[in-house]
Formats: sequence, structure tokens, C-alpha cells
Amino acid sequence: MLNNKVQDALNEQINAELWSAYLYLSMAMQFEADGKPGVANWFKIQFQEEQAHATVFMNYINQRGGRVVLKAIDAVPTSWSSPLDAFKATLEHEQKVTALINNLYALAEAERDYATRDRLAWFVTEQVEEEDNARQLIDKFTLIGNDGMGLYMLDQELAARTYTAPSILNED
Ligand code: MG
Repeated sequence: MLNNKVQDALNEQINAELWSAYLYLSMAMQFEADGKPGVANWFKIQFQEEQAHATVFMNYINQRGGRVVLKAIDAVPTSWSSPLDAFKATLEHEQKVTALINNLYALAEAERDYATRDRLAWFVTEQVEEEDNARQLIDKFTLIGNDGMGLYMLDQELAARTYTAPSILNED
């Protein structure tokens, strides 16, 4: 059984993951409107990934005999000046999520809830990847600057990204 402290914190994290999903969907819609379908595609996949993260936490709470409680999702920003600006905002946001995951991990350990701690270990690794992905894209967009051909080619590259459900989703 999950203790209330851990369960409340996991429910908060579900809300944070869904807020992330909403943030990336908002970014996708901006770049869809701006004629950058590849960038929009990248963020749409990010939207799916964040929903998967929320699902992993929901499945986990249910598996432990707990109770998922969904809360209101706060409004998200709706405009970014460029893809570079959006990827900088993405990195900044993912760094905050990393801190949330680390806090949760510390709480699970303090509460001697080792099953929750072990589940969180997957998210610790996932956050390294999330931050690295954003950083790489910041580097690419910085390198290209305002070069039209470069932006076109990078947009094409991002158009090729496809969604793969995280393996942890199939383990439950
Ligand atoms: Mg996430």
C-alpha cells in the first residue's frame, strides 16, 4: 500500500506530466500555424511522450492499490518567437521536471518506499535524455541561425521523428 505522502506526491507528478503534455501541444500548434511542420511534429510526439509518462504513474498507483486523483491543468504559454526560443523553454522546463523527479525519489527513499523509488529510477534516466534532446536541438538551431535552407532541412529532419511508446508502459 502507498502511504498518503507518497501517493499525493505521485498524483502531483501526474499533473506535472499532463501540464508538460499540454505545453508541448501548445508549442506544436504554434509551429503548425507558422509553417514549420517538422518542428510541430517533434512537439506532437513530445506531447504523446508526456501523456505516456502520466500513464506510467497512473498505472503504478493503481497497481499499488492507491487512488489516482486528477486535478486541474494550469494554462500554458501560447507563443514562442522561434523554434530556438521554444527549445530553450523546453530545456528550462525539463530541468524543472528533473528537480521534481529527484524530489520524489528522495521522498520515496525517506519513506522507505523502495518500490516507488525503483519505479522513479526509470524517470531519472529518462530526464537525462529529455534534457540532452533539447540541448542538441538548441545547438542545431543556434548553428543554423536565420539560414533559410538550414531551417528547411532541419524542419525536414524533425518531421521524421516517430512515436514509440516507452518500454516501461508494456511492463505493467
Ligand atoms: Mg515527462
